[in-house]
Amino acid sequence: EREEPHYFGAGPAQLPTNVLQQAAKDLINYANVGLGIGEISHRSKEAAQVIENTKANLRKLMKVPETHEVFFMQGGGTTGFSSLATNLSAAFVGKHGITAPAGYLVTGSWSSKSFEEAQRLGIDAEVLVNAKDYNNGKFGVIPPETAWADKLKAKKYSYVYLCENETVHGVEWPSLPKALTDSDIEIVADLSSDIMSREIDVSKYGVIMAGAQKNIGLAGLTIYIIKKSILDDISAASDDQLREAGIPITPIAFHYPTVVKNNSAYNTIPIFTLHIIDLVLQNLLKKGGVEAQQKENEEKANLLYGALDKHSDFYNVPVSKSCRSKMNVVFTLKKDGLDDKFLKEAGARKLTGLKGHRSVGGFRASLYNAVSLGSVRLLVKFVEDFAEENA
Ligand code: PMP
Repeated sequence: EREEPHYFGAGPAQLPTNVLQQAAKDLINYANVGLGIGEISHRSKEAAQVIENTKANLRKLMKVPETHEVFFMQGGGTTGFSSLATNLSAAFVGKHGITAPAGYLVTGSWSSKSFEEAQRLGIDAEVLVNAKDYNNGKFGVIPPETAWADKLKAKKYSYVYLCENETVHGVEWPSLPKALTDSDIEIVADLSSDIMSREIDVSKYGVIMAGAQKNIGLAGLTIYIIKKSILDDISAASDDQLREAGIPITPIAFHYPTVVKNNSAYNTIPIFTLHIIDLVLQNLLKKGGVEAQQKENEEKANLLYGALDKHSDFYNVPVSKSCRSKMNVVFTLKKDGLDDKFLKEAGARKLTGLKGHRSVGGFRASLYNAVSLGSVRLLVKFVEDFAEENA
């Protein structure tokens, strides 16, 4: 039991209360087997069923085509971008017998970290464009495609990486860039903070990766949707061939073809955590799926940005209108010395989790799927009252 929260934290995020209530029961006694779902073997028929259900519901919600495989792996977004770098570099070697650099579109701190990690691992990685160069040294815009599209034509890249929603900086790609979708290069995307917030065309992606702990579950698991041909390409690259090419060997638990061959249970999958994802997905299906959720998310974001823009003499939104995130609304106060008061008064109205990321300051309201329209209306009212009382 709990009072409905109005929690705007960036992640881990609020989950639907009814999901957690069911999960709490299943943690103790799952489907009357007399044991909790986290206590039984990850190879039991119950566990296999949870994996199958979650995959099927995910495929249904995201309309995943037959060309793509779905799997789950321990870890989070960071495990995701590290393992993507080695697996996708191996795929290129497996397919072409040679290496090529990976291209990164840097639009905020997460794509930046992903690029740095690829380099750290010893992979030949290049920044195709850095959004900071187009906005006075700060993130907050998506640079025009003309800034980097010619590079794609000039030489081969093993893959191009982007982060669809930059959780810290509140920058979201409105759609996939045409320069990528028109090319045959594999698009690798981090959807950790906007998966299932809007409809996308999965067929356009080589790989989608998303940590679970924002829109679809608890921390501990990462979701992957990958083109089956890429799995074949990774399998085609032998360890010797990779060593020779200077591509780091992927640790076995993160080697995608191995995980897929073992139905996401090569090693112990946290099945309770996966079960929660499944419950969230079932809940979303009942609500009308991603389409209905997208409508609600658009309404939530429009209401909040609308209030901030209405009081633009008081609030500043440091993100260009064309790429404002619908999941993470970042803003600051124009007047100094009022930040603590803002948080305190928000807290008095039970609106929590609004402090901005330590690297950016100010405030961030995350409007993930489980944050209700009602919670957003309360926040909007507060944002307006605060501006009027402190102008
Ligand atoms: N990518 C994005 C877009 C994120 O928001 C985060 C976490 N906030 C990460 C990656 C890293 O996730 P984790 O902490 O699970 O490694």
